[in-house]
Amino acid sequence: MELSAIQRRTVSSLLDTGSGRPVSSGLAGLLRDRIEEGIRPFLPALRGSARLPPGPLRLAKERLNELARCEGLFHADLLGERAPFVHSDASAAGTLAHKSIELDVATADPAEPPALAELAAARLERDRQFGPYWQSLDPGSRADLRARAARSVEQFRTSFPPIRALRRRLAPVSEQWLEARFGGGALRVVGKVDLLLNAARGGRSTRVLIDLKRGRPWAEHAEDMRLYALLHTFRCGIPPYRVATFFLSSGEWQPEDVTEETLHHAAQRVIEGVAAAARLGEGTPQLRPGRHCVRCPRSDTCPASAVQPDLPGRLG
Ligand code: SF4
Repeated sequence: MELSAIQRRTVSSLLDTGSGRPVSSGLAGLLRDRIEEGIRPFLPALRGSARLPPGPLRLAKERLNELARCEGLFHADLLGERAPFVHSDASAAGTLAHKSIELDVATADPAEPPALAELAAARLERDRQFGPYWQSLDPGSRADLRARAARSVEQFRTSFPPIRALRRRLAPVSEQWLEARFGGGALRVVGKVDLLLNAARGGRSTRVLIDLKRGRPWAEHAEDMRLYALLHTFRCGIPPYRVATFFLSSGEWQPEDVTEETLHHAAQRVIEGVAAAARLGEGTPQLRPGRHCVRCPRSDTCPASAVQPDLPGRLG
């Protein structure tokens, strides 16, 4: 098959995992035991907390990243202090682009990018968050979002080999939800991977997990992908070979080959999330002010907030 130079580069530098990597026997069980043992001391506090919402503690990449920024921000999110999510122009554009690429990967018949964007918008109209936002737009704004989504499909096609034609070899899966439960159901860890590529090969690590981004790189992207690698390991029993955040606008990516250290690091972050949730109500959280204070629901009342305009050296 004739590939462009850019597509060849993606294949050779990102997708080529050779014959895969052997997997230590019992690795998934070892990681599960580590999390179960790590969270055990905190389960009574979680279950007995009158402040946490009822039901399992839900940890996803966003919450773990909030904890890395500031425990107060993490607690505010756990307690539902954030205003309900409503789409902005940027988030709606991202959602429509992802849906369009998902359809491009999943549909058997080839379609032009504008048609995919049209179809994606029609599907998303039923979404309880996207639908109302879409309905609120005028025809010009909708056309603009569709055009941006179509451009993302074109960038995806330019960067990746033709996935439809290589379906058997690449075994593509898009928008894959992953979930693992611990502590007898007291903890749910969840994530959604944009794209999984490379067919499984005889119990060896071969899969490449990819998150597609329209924006610029952030340090947190690497942590997000490590969490996905951990969840994939629990789901499939085999870790992915590699994870990567792929930037559609530049065609560049941030890769990481998944090692046992990668997975233990992700497991430790989950344990720290549970420990921090269990500390809710035990005095003042560990406050770490920074630019993230701008988006914190406690920024008006927090004594350490970096957005108080009347104190020297602070943002605002
Ligand atoms: S305002 Fe800043 S320091 Fe205070 S809780 Fe929020 S993120 Fe943390």
